[in-house]
Amino acid sequence: MNRGAASLRPSWDYVYDVVVVGLGAAGAAAAITAAEKGCKVLVVEKTGEGGGNSKMSAAFICPDSKDEAVKYITHLKLIERGKVDEEERKVIEAYVEEAVGLVDWIKQLGGEVEPGPVIPGYPKQPVGPSFPEIPGSGSMKRYRVSGMEVRGGESLFKLLMSKVRELGVDVFFNTAAKDLICVDNEVVGVLAERGGVEVRIKALKAVVLACGGFEYSEELKRTFLGTSLVHGLGNPANTGDGVKMAMKLGAALWNMDSFAGYPGFKPETTPYAFPIRMWVPAFIYVDKHGNRFMNETAIEAHISCLPLLYFDPVKLEYPRIPSHVIFDEKNMEAGPLSPHRAVYGEWSADNLAELEKGWIVKADTVERLAERLGLPPNSLKTTVSRYNDMCSLGVDMDFGRRQDELMPIEGPPFYGIKIWPCVLNTQGGPRRNSRAQVLHASGKPIKRLYSAGELGSMWGKLYQSAGNVAECLAFGRIAGRNASEEAPSTA
Ligand SMILES: Cc1cc2nc3c(=O)[nH]c(=O)nc-3n(C[C@H](O)[C@H](O)[C@H](O)COP(=O)(O)OP(=O)(O)OC[C@H]3O[C@@H](n4cnc5c(N)ncnc54)[C@H](O)[C@@H]3O)c2cc1C
Repeated sequence: MNRGAASLRPSWDYVYDVVVVGLGAAGAAAAITAAEKGCKVLVVEKTGEGGGNSKMSAAFICPDSKDEAVKYITHLKLIERGKVDEEERKVIEAYVEEAVGLVDWIKQLGGEVEPGPVIPGYPKQPVGPSFPEIPGSGSMKRYRVSGMEVRGGESLFKLLMSKVRELGVDVFFNTAAKDLICVDNEVVGVLAERGGVEVRIKALKAVVLACGGFEYSEELKRTFLGTSLVHGLGNPANTGDGVKMAMKLGAALWNMDSFAGYPGFKPETTPYAFPIRMWVPAFIYVDKHGNRFMNETAIEAHISCLPLLYFDPVKLEYPRIPSHVIFDEKNMEAGPLSPHRAVYGEWSADNLAELEKGWIVKADTVERLAERLGLPPNSLKTTVSRYNDMCSLGVDMDFGRRQDELMPIEGPPFYGIKIWPCVLNTQGGPRRNSRAQVLHASGKPIKRLYSAGELGSMWGKLYQSAGNVAECLAFGRIAGRNASEEAPSTA
């Protein structure tokens, strides 16, 4: 096993039992659990306030049947990867075992929960199971934290933070972990940068990596998602630092090719993109050549980016990056086209600010709209006419849209917006076992190194909506518990 870059002659600026890297839901759950077990815990957080992607989330799952939930998740894995090995099966079981108690745990922390939420529009957000046709799907129950002035992830994070503070967990904000410190093949601490100064933090028992995904690492996206032409929707500080730190120690990786995402608009002026949703089915997606390419209303939201990633091996291009949504006044008037609560910036309720900025493009004819969007005018005109004709017929002969979702695009005016494949969260990272230990490429656990949450998630491409936050809480708790039970290192 390789040693981390910072492996020799450690001398310490701080000493804790457990050091957690990253203060999202996973890091907070790990810190709370280790502190409840009597450990002296430090969380290092790169940003000034933490919360990461967790703060932006809406819901979490709490399955109502262990057996059915294991059946469902295993089935998704089998469809996707063709095989579920013994170790992975144990991870799924451990996840479910912990996830079924999440509503109770949140109530124990003093939180309130409510079912839901239901988010209308396209791409389709599931209310419960993402894939209802899969055996065991009925066990997938979604909840959100309520009872505060905000709901969902913000509320969850507030609740977790109040417990973190109550338990006396130390948090170093604006402190980025740079490396893991190893002695004799054991992780014994963290090298971090705090206020421009390097600090060495000893972890007597263990380090828990909970620093999220790699939505904002061009290098990791290019290598593992196949292209860097995908934009982040979440916390720009999630740059895959945990993936790189674990790789330096020879960690096994998994699910690195998978992410959950929506089509989104990426302005040049923001580091993040805005998810784009349509309220009524009077819209189509077209590629760079002005052609439709999919049944736009059938797909589950979290996998709705997959068709956009198509690479044409004959023309040697990504014809759908960016794609374009073509729509009419009905969607403009129905509500904000980025209805997701935008944590970093608000999308206007009437879409007019975005029209003014040129993010949404408007024209009196389809040909003029095509010119403004940089699409071939004749091609777009033919595509829209054909789609409208099929709406009149009530049959989508090209992509099989449901009859009740065939709503014509009527103008003038006509509207369009560019959309890119955008990432809510990456799933991959260092592979963990059912005890939340990070596994070395040899298959053995790396000593005293744990992980939780999006970093090394067990989910792949077929992701159950609201399954990530549940994983943060479930594996955060497992990691915190097992880290606290380590005997102190003598290194
Ligand atoms: C808009 C949006 C909506 C979503 N909705 C849902 C939903 O409803 N349900 C669901 O289950 N999932 C949802 N997801 C996904 C889910 O939010 C994430 O997968 C999950 O919250 C990740 O939690 P985490 O604790 O692992 O990471 P995060 O919450 O991202 O926290 C990681 C933290 O680590 C910090 N960090 C990064 N690098 C370092 C470093 N080197 N040193 C120290 N700190 C570091 C980051 O600043 C961040 O605060 C959504 C994601 C987005 C973006």
